[in-house]
Amino acid sequence: MKQYDRFGIAICLLLTVFSVSLFAENRKLLKDTETAEKENFEPEMKNALLQKEVSELTEECQVYEDIDTQIEEVKDQYFSLALELETKIVNGESEKKIAYLTFDDGPYYRSEKFLDVLEEYDVPATFFSLMKCAETGYADEDEFYDSIYRRILSSGHTLGNHTATHKLGSGGVYRSVDAFMDEIVRNRDFIEDRYGYRTVIMRFPGGSATSSKTPDIIPELRKIGYGYVDWNSATGDGGKNQAPEVFRDNVLNNTNGRKILVVLMHDYAQNTLIALPEIIEGLQKQGYIFLPLFYESSMVKK
Ligand SMILES: [Zn+2]
Repeated sequence: MKQYDRFGIAICLLLTVFSVSLFAENRKLLKDTETAEKENFEPEMKNALLQKEVSELTEECQVYEDIDTQIEEVKDQYFSLALELETKIVNGESEKKIAYLTFDDGPYYRSEKFLDVLEEYDVPATFFSLMKCAETGYADEDEFYDSIYRRILSSGHTLGNHTATHKLGSGGVYRSVDAFMDEIVRNRDFIEDRYGYRTVIMRFPGGSATSSKTPDIIPELRKIGYGYVDWNSATGDGGKNQAPEVFRDNVLNNTNGRKILVVLMHDYAQNTLIALPEIIEGLQKQGYIFLPLFYESSMVKK
């Protein structure tokens, strides 16, 4: 073998080794780059996905906020129409009549059944509720009446304030003006904190004529934006228990052509529950339509 041939072969060998190592180096570099890119890409991708989720959730929350606003707008519209109708009726410009069905002292475990009847007849009503939770001793657990408060509010009924405890007698809600207002504010805050609903109407336990302190309480109620409601019709279920027919007739036979009725009932009374369908049907036959009470109503005194 000639000298240059050997040299040539050596060069060729060296070149080959160099090429192979260069190739290997290249591949390694390429792999490192790929890994690095992949590692970078994954967090980037995760980040993008999370950002997408965040923006989707933000949009969804916005929709819910809008729904709340829309509900408020619809309610405002509803009550301004109700006021218009009520004004026409009071002024004798409409043949219609309004019945405000009201249920006091709840919620009770039986309230669900009353809500079922109202739902069946598609009739809105007003519930003057107490602060029924463990704190006031009305339930062992705070959640006990929770679903009833929620259902009242989500079904288009009005929730009114009937004091926190409804205790009468010495040491009760009427012991002083301050004590009474404390009862009202406690129940108002309880409902607002839990259900985001601000009550603006109330009913005095036993009615506004029960206590001699009422004239001093009314200005205090006005200061916190509250109106109060009595009644001009009742089943009588707050007194001794009587047959459902008696409760029914107490309402239907005593409407006396009144254009606006505020019917007092209690959602603890089993016989009122039995009478309720006939009370609704009977009032409808007499030309009454049903509305939930609202602050601007002429029946809410301010
Ligand atoms: Zn009561």
